[in-house]
Amino acid sequence: VGPGLVTVIQSIGTYLPPWGTTAARCAGHDEDVVTMAVAAGRRAMGSSPAGTIRSVVLVSRDVPLLEGGNAAPLLAGLGVDAATEVREELGGAPAALAAAAAAPAGTLVIGADLGPAGAAALLLGGARGAELTLAGRVSRSLPVVTRDAHGEVTDYADPRLARERGVGVSLERAGLAGKVAAVAGLGHKLAAPLSAGDPPALPTVGASAAIFALAAVAERGGGRILAVEQATVAIADLAGGPAVPAVPVARNEPVPLPPPSGTATPGPGIAISLAAYERAFDAKLRLAAARCAVCGCLSLPPRYRCLGCGSEQPTELVDLPRDATVYSTTTVHVPVPSLVTPYSLALVDLGGSGVRLLAHVTGAPPGSVAIGDAGDMVLRRVAVRSGVPDYGYAFLPRERTEVAA
Ligand SMILES: [Zn+2]
Repeated sequence: VGPGLVTVIQSIGTYLPPWGTTAARCAGHDEDVVTMAVAAGRRAMGSSPAGTIRSVVLVSRDVPLLEGGNAAPLLAGLGVDAATEVREELGGAPAALAAAAAAPAGTLVIGADLGPAGAAALLLGGARGAELTLAGRVSRSLPVVTRDAHGEVTDYADPRLARERGVGVSLERAGLAGKVAAVAGLGHKLAAPLSAGDPPALPTVGASAAIFALAAVAERGGGRILAVEQATVAIADLAGGPAVPAVPVARNEPVPLPPPSGTATPGPGIAISLAAYERAFDAKLRLAAARCAVCGCLSLPPRYRCLGCGSEQPTELVDLPRDATVYSTTTVHVPVPSLVTPYSLALVDLGGSGVRLLAHVTGAPPGSVAIGDAGDMVLRRVAVRSGVPDYGYAFLPRERTEVAA
């Protein structure tokens, strides 16, 4: 990937988990990089048909699975065809910025991070949007903090060394020492001297920070973005001005709440049955029901024999509505090994489909949901069983999905 590459940004979507503070969000115990990437990706896609997504690039340093990969739950959660190409890239803000400036039209580029937590995505298009041009990129090694594949962290943090021998030297080498509109990958205090004017405060410092920076610069009418990870930098220019169409930015950034104080009960959880996991995967992760070919009856989970007419004909999967209403709810206080208690469950009606689903409540303190509440079904990591992230849908009460002012 060299300088001079140009892409067109069609839309941007962001997602912040509802827990933490304005300065730093934390992922709930039912979230990981895949669920956050899905939330941001769906925002960026907006009403674009899933069929327009030709490839997905996920940039993160916190991917849940190293073996086997994360492509299948990511595509299922996005509602994109399972044949779509997925590239999982280990990287920070420079890798995400370079990916955004280099991928072909029809690519959904997503950055997602755990600490601080957040995700942002952009959809690259052909005809209408703002041009993003890669101005320069320098990869250098100054490993002030290391984390190996076993998760072992060594911290040699030296902010002055990182600033002067890291970012400073890399910018000189790139021949791009001027001020920029936004800096991704550094805290606000370190970003300020590199910026012209007051740089936008970004909620993350990893891969997603590059796309949060693009969102902020798009809202300010274009400009130069610097992305930093240790001593590696990438610089890109987002076109602006009256002749450039405004890039729509859809933010899903609820007002943060203090994380609920739950108790994690030690002990072995329910082991996974991989045969059941595989059989349920598409219906469970795409929120789809089996429709009987004879009588049209919907069943979730899909059943071999139709409960409406007894037919054993092959069924087809149909997407279910994601708007939901609480039919009944309860809060569980009994300690359950491997789960955090208390937690709330809700039996919800899915749109007008007639399908009712038992789901965890997410994004709201336990016990705060009532019968008749409206909300949305969102992808969450329901459990980790035998080391396998078990994804499914949880009920997010509607008032918590509102965007922060
Ligand atoms: Zn039937």
